[in-house]
Amino acid sequence: MKNKIQDCIIIGMGPAGITAAIYLSRLNIKPLCIEEKGLASKLSSIPLIQNYPGFVGKGNDLAQLFTKQVEDNNISIYKSRVSTIQKDEENFRVQCEDGIFYSKSVLVTAGIRPNPLIIPGGNKYSFRGISRCAVCDGPLYRNKDIAVHGDKSTAIQESLYLADICHTLYFICPEKSISAPSELVKELESKDNVKIIYEGTIVGSIGSRSIEEIQVKCKNDTMSLSVRGLFLYTGEANNATFLPFPEVFDNRNFIIVDENKSTPISGLFAAGDVTITPLRQIVTACGDGAIAAFSIKQYLKTRRL
Ligand SMILES: Cc1cc2nc3c(=O)[nH]c(=O)nc-3n(C[C@H](O)[C@H](O)[C@H](O)COP(=O)(O)OP(=O)(O)OC[C@H]3O[C@@H](n4cnc5c(N)ncnc54)[C@H](O)[C@@H]3O)c2cc1C
Repeated sequence: MKNKIQDCIIIGMGPAGITAAIYLSRLNIKPLCIEEKGLASKLSSIPLIQNYPGFVGKGNDLAQLFTKQVEDNNISIYKSRVSTIQKDEENFRVQCEDGIFYSKSVLVTAGIRPNPLIIPGGNKYSFRGISRCAVCDGPLYRNKDIAVHGDKSTAIQESLYLADICHTLYFICPEKSISAPSELVKELESKDNVKIIYEGTIVGSIGSRSIEEIQVKCKNDTMSLSVRGLFLYTGEANNATFLPFPEVFDNRNFIIVDENKSTPISGLFAAGDVTITPLRQIVTACGDGAIAAFSIKQYLKTRRL
């Protein structure tokens, strides 16, 4: 398998990679899929999914449905971590921890991971009040008091979405000012139910089953805020650091793709959270994966001319 030149290698088997693999198989292209953890590993950790059409339930149950469909399509999975990729004139050389593979095309669907923010006592409330996604979890806090921690545009955009759902939103900015366009900051300030706390640090959290109160240190004072949800925006890191092509990344380190999910490098495609997409969700990752598969099929046709 290692010396053969594959038609396509998919790196990362989350919703984007899995969808692409299913579509490619149905287009008679057998991709080699490389995954370091397990199929749909991120989905497996989501306690409740309510916004993927046709399914409401535990992420692990959806992950199992995805896995079954991969098995039913006889898609081969190689469990390993990709460490780097090179390209010669024609093909890609994909290096894993324990082997090297060659392919005419590569699809990167390696996802993202959040930068850590340690909240004292907060480990207890992961998935029980602490969230990083307003679209995923916002509706759980309808008419409740919540807090958002962050200092950049993402934190404001997510807060504007949450402010229309929740009762009171405490926006805790660790800096003296928010690094975001002034129109966004003004829009947040104009919301009657938003209270902004500058130079705030979360120093503690309390609750029995889920989060109920946080302590925020601000200059010389420490205040207690009663909240049922805490949304953390610490930024995220791209998992595709194995790509040695600086021209494929934008200034926030997401992979630049066009509407066909092609990157600026011929034969290199990307889909899902790892790209410059405006929304990072399961349904959008699946849609991206399907488009990428179709584009890869077209690309491989040009290689055969
Ligand atoms: C806590 C939480 C809750 C969420 N809730 C929802 C929700 O309710 N609804 C919703 O629609 N979305 C939700 N999301 C977002 C959703 O999980 C993502 O948008 C989706 O998983 C993105 O799919 P993906 O295929 O792009 O990436 P991922 O699912 O992140 O998959 C990437 C895969 O690549 C693998 N990988 C990474 N690097 C390498 C490497 N070097 N070599 C080999 N393999 C590699 C990883 O192990 C992983 O399996 C949630 C996310 C989080 C974190």
